[in-house]
Amino acid sequence: MINKTILFLLLLLSNQLYAQVFTGKGGTIKDKQEGYVVDSFPIKVKGLPNRIDSNFGIAKICLNISHPKVSDLKIELLSPDGTSIWLTNRNGGDTGSGYYSTCFRSNGMSGYVHQAESPFTGEYIPDGRLTFLNNGQNPNGTWYLLIQDLRAENKGSLTQLNITFENNPTPGDGETPCRLDNGIACKCPDGSQNCDLLPDLIVLPAFTKQQVKEYPHNHPNYPGQLRFAVSIANIGDGPIETYGNNSWFCGDEAVADSSIICDDGSHARQKVFQRIYQKDGEKIKYKDRLAGTNYYEDLPGHNHYHTDDWVEFRLVQKGDDGISKNIAVAKGRKISFCLFDSGVCNNADSLCAYRDQVYGDKTLPNYGLGKYVHCNTPGASQGISVGAYDTYGLHFEGQHIQLPKGLKSGIYHLEIEIDPTGIYLEKDKSNNIFSMPITISNQ
Ligand SMILES: [Zn+2]
Repeated sequence: MINKTILFLLLLLSNQLYAQVFTGKGGTIKDKQEGYVVDSFPIKVKGLPNRIDSNFGIAKICLNISHPKVSDLKIELLSPDGTSIWLTNRNGGDTGSGYYSTCFRSNGMSGYVHQAESPFTGEYIPDGRLTFLNNGQNPNGTWYLLIQDLRAENKGSLTQLNITFENNPTPGDGETPCRLDNGIACKCPDGSQNCDLLPDLIVLPAFTKQQVKEYPHNHPNYPGQLRFAVSIANIGDGPIETYGNNSWFCGDEAVADSSIICDDGSHARQKVFQRIYQKDGEKIKYKDRLAGTNYYEDLPGHNHYHTDDWVEFRLVQKGDDGISKNIAVAKGRKISFCLFDSGVCNNADSLCAYRDQVYGDKTLPNYGLGKYVHCNTPGASQGISVGAYDTYGLHFEGQHIQLPKGLKSGIYHLEIEIDPTGIYLEKDKSNNIFSMPITISNQ
């Protein structure tokens, strides 16, 4: 018994020895009115081993921010090799102010930051994945905390900032056996050795149910809008993956690059292909098929490539039986998304619960297959890994349905459909529509 205690203390001590903290200086967070800027706060790191990975790497980021309305803010961490992740993106609701002694960690005991309330005191699971930074890069160099204010009126300041490197840095968000270079660990749904590993996309009910809000017609920012979050998870056998060939068009006319605005005011488009992975015994192969298009979205907070027609939002009136009289009374336009793994499902919580089943590491045979860090490069792949999800919060651009002024108050259904035009191949298309009843006051 004594030996065990000593061993535990030694283990604790050795972990402490390897934990190394680096501090950055704070400063002013400019308001959007002062121009569209990203405030960057450097953290100099030196003296660490020249490789960070799942054994030793960045484990924790702590900060202190005073700001009257933190849902204006998108906060990212940028590593020396240019990889960045979201720490928290426009969380805090309509009135939340400040981040006070807030830390981000892959297994944060205070839960997901997008489910929490300001001032976010404690250790939270970030909106993005720390694992993507522990990618074998050399951590010695300058890291940056990036803060963008995406809505005018309020300014604030960063008053504390530090990052911690440790052993076993990202428990619960690590490497998994089924990978593109390790096909032997991946499984076919029918138990055979040869199959297509198709994705299966669903809307996670927990995100939308927690983040949905109607704003009155006299609201200064969101007049007559029903705003809501949408998080799309992949519970299939393989990733959803798309890529373009970096040839840009306005209609049939080839144009120089993605920055071109066409005569009709739209952005230039490129064709995208869907890559379907296939298990072939011990190997993973793939085939590509032509799918839809994507474009460069230059709205504040985006600045990356969006897959066209990815979701459609509808407000629907149903009959008393809940089925008949299925009339769309208001429609959002078809919405484009940037596809990437903003987070991962875990069986340890019920974030990815869907139709009486919780999806995660224990229930998805090919959990973790794929890796989609961002959508910043025109010809690069974007997608959603098996067991990962891609979240668009309530305060993100475009996350709303405009309520018609004459619409009667009452009970309606909010419907969110993934891939409404049926461009992408999936294992199951019948679960692409999410629907929830919602009371609309339309004041
Ligand atoms: Zn975007």
